[in-house]
Amino acid sequence: MSAPHIIWFRNDLRLADHAAVAAAARSGPVVALFVLDDETPGAWAMGAAQRWWLHHSLAALAQDLAARGGSLLLRRGAAGTVVPDVARCIGAAAVHTLTHYEPWAKAQDAMVAKTLANTAVAFKRYHGALLAPPASVLAGSGGRYRIFTPWWRKLLEQMPPARPAPAPEAMVFAPLPAGDMPAGDTLAGETLAGLGLLPDRDWAAGFDVWTPGEAGAAAQLAVFLDVAADYDKARNLPSQEGSSRLSPHLALGEISIRTVWHAVADAVPAAQAEPYLRELGWRDFAANILDQFPDHADQPGRAQFNAIAFREAPADLRAWQQGRTGYPIVDAGMRQLWATGWMHNRVRMIAASFLVKHLLIDWRQGERWFWDCLVDADLGANSLGWQWVMGSGVDSSPFNRVFAPVTQSAKFDAAAYIRHWVPELSSLRDADIHAPFDAEPMMLRAAGVVLSRTYPQPVIGHAEGRARALVAYAEAKAF
Ligand SMILES: Cc1cc2nc3c(=O)[nH]c(=O)nc-3n(C[C@H](O)[C@H](O)[C@H](O)COP(=O)(O)OP(=O)(O)OC[C@H]3O[C@@H](n4cnc5c(N)ncnc54)[C@H](O)[C@@H]3O)c2cc1C
Repeated sequence: MSAPHIIWFRNDLRLADHAAVAAAARSGPVVALFVLDDETPGAWAMGAAQRWWLHHSLAALAQDLAARGGSLLLRRGAAGTVVPDVARCIGAAAVHTLTHYEPWAKAQDAMVAKTLANTAVAFKRYHGALLAPPASVLAGSGGRYRIFTPWWRKLLEQMPPARPAPAPEAMVFAPLPAGDMPAGDTLAGETLAGLGLLPDRDWAAGFDVWTPGEAGAAAQLAVFLDVAADYDKARNLPSQEGSSRLSPHLALGEISIRTVWHAVADAVPAAQAEPYLRELGWRDFAANILDQFPDHADQPGRAQFNAIAFREAPADLRAWQQGRTGYPIVDAGMRQLWATGWMHNRVRMIAASFLVKHLLIDWRQGERWFWDCLVDADLGANSLGWQWVMGSGVDSSPFNRVFAPVTQSAKFDAAAYIRHWVPELSSLRDADIHAPFDAEPMMLRAAGVVLSRTYPQPVIGHAEGRARALVAYAEAKAF
């Protein structure tokens, strides 16, 4: 048998429309490899909720490979070292992978390229994680964009993306020789259970709303296509399932972005598809910003935001994390996040704004919490989201835009959402449920709500929180 071709899977756990899979399958017998690398990302190693997802996604991929007569080789360690080691041990002809833009992916690529340089093993990278490679969307001056709208207009010149390719019809798998691996490991060194991705405690019980894996992603897309025509109206309403909920599938690459693009563009008229395709654009834009500013998850896009005197307020931070701020919309969102690993986008903005403005807590503390709790955690999208809400990003909402949680909750009709996630308020009338602290005592009694006992008083008043944030911002600007 000729020398094997390694498919190095990263956050692209699928077989369809995967250029590295296709190229390897065309070239010779393949070895499918995934490396759990907690070393290279350092502080941004995958969070707990997404590890749950990864476990099930790897199981699904292994099953799909098994159905074709193959298997998934699992390894652990710094991928920059592990991938060339595996390549050397099996006498590979090439390593094929998709290009990713997180700083750790770039570091892994640089290390693999360096180690494999001047060896018989080729290192081949392909476009496929995004709609377009970030560096291909350039202004007339040749420079990169930092603002969404002109960037989007320019990207559209390259759109639509190429039609997605199906999974290879046939794949031939190379047998794995046992033994002879670095540090005495065998090639089949890790089992999925051995990677220890599942949580010790059973907090992920509510995650069973999801079906990780390529088939689960396709099924979720099919569900969305039925309601895609109403996306523009429904996406902002947390009480409805109006958005696609594809984000965790996209974050781990179980479905290609161009598959989603074409499915929606084919299913609904152009004017109705546009708002959704634009959201897909935000995902690419986030990668574009991260590509330009690799420390975007840790450093504000505008330096003056380093001067804000954030509060160290562990009790307030805990109240926010646990969904006990006294603002039902914020609490509903934070509880949805904890229970399911996902939060509605409108509510993400409200909850994030509440943390950084009303509570004046550093955006990075919220970003970290999201990173650990989200099944769709994505370094680019998460840092962009937080910096946008904070007002500190290169393209973001102005700092003095402070989301008013009660107004937002009523405007976006969140009553049913709150009843679901904050059941202790479920008997309140729609008129009271957004702000139980303003309800008549009689109404509270009738609904069985005792403030400070069955549900907290607000941790801070809206006007007071807003004013404190604006003062802190004015002081930072003057600094
Ligand atoms: C503070 C904050 C943190 C966020 N963190 C993340 C994150 O870690 N990972 C993540 O995927 N999204 C993040 N988002 C963006 C957005 O909230 C989610 O992508 C969206 O809620 C996912 O639900 P959906 O799949 O139903 O989205 P849909 O509305 O159906 O959108 C389709 C897809 O477009 C992409 N998308 C939509 N909006 C955005 C956006 N603003 N930025 C980037 N991509 C977008 C996602 O891949 C999404 O699945 C964050 C937003 C905020 C305000």
